[in-house]
Amino acid sequence: MVTLTGTQGGPSAFKGLAGPGTLVRYGGDAHDCSTLKLQFDTGRGTVMRLSDLGISPEQLNAVFFTHMHNDHTEGFADLVTLRWMFFASAARIDTVCSSDVVSTLGSSISCQKFTAHVADAFLQSGEVAQRHSEIKERSLGGPADLINTLTFTAKDEPQTVWASGDVKVSAIRSTHIAGHVSYRVDSPAGSVVIGGDAGNDVPAPPRPASTSEQVARLAQGADVIVHSAIHPVMGPDRGSAFPAYAYFRQSNVTDLGALARRAGAKYLMLTHLIPPLGAEKHGPFKVPGSPLAEADYRRAVEESGFTGNTIVGTDLATVRLPAIK
Ligand SMILES: [Zn+2]
Repeated sequence: MVTLTGTQGGPSAFKGLAGPGTLVRYGGDAHDCSTLKLQFDTGRGTVMRLSDLGISPEQLNAVFFTHMHNDHTEGFADLVTLRWMFFASAARIDTVCSSDVVSTLGSSISCQKFTAHVADAFLQSGEVAQRHSEIKERSLGGPADLINTLTFTAKDEPQTVWASGDVKVSAIRSTHIAGHVSYRVDSPAGSVVIGGDAGNDVPAPPRPASTSEQVARLAQGADVIVHSAIHPVMGPDRGSAFPAYAYFRQSNVTDLGALARRAGAKYLMLTHLIPPLGAEKHGPFKVPGSPLAEADYRRAVEESGFTGNTIVGTDLATVRLPAIK
């Protein structure tokens, strides 16, 4: 079962949409298909959307990050602090991400440091020590003590990065910012690809497509593809003033339809929509013409010839595959 826990595209906020995240649940019907709960990215408000589903943070088995952009990670402090506050004796949560890299512009990107320091502000303010003095199980090291960070070197071929029972998660390097990866969950009920914000390795046209060739490989035969999507209306030729580099490092909606068609996917779940449905502006950038409706995204997918189910993502949109194939 695949649920979008947040569909806002990028760091801006619009009408209460949560920041990007996808919850993948797996298990028998007796457990409402939810014995295992895997969270991919934790944007703003992830804990709130999980609470809409009746899921509290200590119930997650693992968190996976596609990349370190703040819109995909800023809900993590909230999530782990809540675990530390009320479930201090719970197992440390596996947190899976790619190992440290230096970007072409020279900045170091470190998921390892992010998780180690995610709640440092609460250490500095005295909050951690104060809460510890009330209940000793809350460790003095703070929420980071409850994180088990598992890093891997991103490669151009899929590699298994996490597994539990029948469920395997693999990852592949993809381009957006340095360290970006895309994931695939394989289970007896089916396969789900989480593309994240991946775009083509070639940063701008001319190129065959805006989508990632690695994601295309990862997605072969998958049932569900969840992917961030940008609508061509935000393109540099359309007057939105949305920066060209930022436009070209996302996958556009029509190219995603083509990727889903070639992969033979049953479902394409568009998320992280740029621009959001009904928005006159995307952050500071004007949406040319009138605000986009669901049908505008759907039409852009149809141009690709994809005939499976397209879900134009809103928070909590869910696809449920039969428990046993
Ligand atoms: Zn993003």
